[in-house]
Amino acid sequence: MRTGGEVAALSPWSDVSWRIAEVDSRGRIIRLGSHPIAIAALFGLVSVGLLGFAVGAWQYFTGNEMARRADNKAQSQRLDKVGRDLDDEVSSLVTLLQQHLEVSSSHSDALASVNRNLPTLTSPEQIRAVVQRLINENARFRGEVDVLNGRLRQSQTQIEKLRANLNESQRLGMIDAVTSLKNRHWLQANMEREVRLAMEANEPLSVIMADVDHFKKINDTFGHAVGDEILRRFGELLSKSIKGRDTAVRYGGEEFIVLLPQTKLLGAVNLGEQLRAGLESKRWMHHRTGKPIGTVTASFGVAQMRPDDSPETLIDRADGKLYEAKAAGRNCVKSEVDDVA
Ligand code: GH3
Ligand code: MG
Ligand code: MG
Repeated sequence: MRTGGEVAALSPWSDVSWRIAEVDSRGRIIRLGSHPIAIAALFGLVSVGLLGFAVGAWQYFTGNEMARRADNKAQSQRLDKVGRDLDDEVSSLVTLLQQHLEVSSSHSDALASVNRNLPTLTSPEQIRAVVQRLINENARFRGEVDVLNGRLRQSQTQIEKLRANLNESQRLGMIDAVTSLKNRHWLQANMEREVRLAMEANEPLSVIMADVDHFKKINDTFGHAVGDEILRRFGELLSKSIKGRDTAVRYGGEEFIVLLPQTKLLGAVNLGEQLRAGLESKRWMHHRTGKPIGTVTASFGVAQMRPDDSPETLIDRADGKLYEAKAAGRNCVKSEVDDVA
């Protein structure tokens, strides 16, 4: 008859922290491995991590206006597709987690039942039967965890692909399809940081706001395609004229913003004047008909960051100056030269 001591040695089966021993029918330890519940916990942790990423990405697609308003059709379709794929992957991860919880729970039930019966065991046969039951239960559990692990790996690979896709889509979502400049979404995501960095470093930051003059008339007279081409060329002029950490942004329609870190108002006004003159000096012609389009001009408003500025107030002041430039007859640069000491 086995003693109570041997039963006590088996009692740590109820302890989650132990390592599992597989014992053959003669009671010899044939394999040591990690506790199945520890494997299960690891599986659960990895799943929850992946699920966290997938849900975050899914929220990006369902909650983010940026994706919704993407003006480029192909890009918008691409975003929708990644969104749908992520949706599917989140659902399959949730199912996988549910299955995993069911497997863990049935395994825990089996172990608890063995543990309950242990104190009543008296003969070696009974103990051998219990050990055999544990071996079988462990084999079943390992098998199920292996299957789930395989599916988790597949899910992980799929999510990694979607993550790369998402990064690319996010990048494309911040670029304007017509001019290839950064767009308003980029500005929303980055300008706050630029303002904060400039404030922390006690460095100047200036903003130029530009708006093509009488653009509606250009569209109406020469067509939308010509209007687009003018926007593209104006975008090129902006890109070519800036350097370093400066950023040209298509703010919307025929409005552009140039963000100029480490630039004082006077430097920004000079650049604004250079841009104004550069656009005015071009002579435009319809590429197919050869019909002259004449000159295209733009108006500019310039402002420098103040200590109490937010991105919005800084843009508002540049916009106010742009309004003044329009009111002053267009094709000119207005700034806060008189406002800032
Ligand atoms: P102002 O000198 O006062 O700025 O007059 P405007 O005609 O330039 O301004 P308005 O706001 O009246 O018209 C802007 C036009 O820009 C109307 C809109 O159809 C056009 N537009 C906006 N986005 C695009 C675009 O991507 N491509 C083209 N071709 N036109 C656009
Ligand atoms: Mg305009
Ligand atoms: Mg406008």
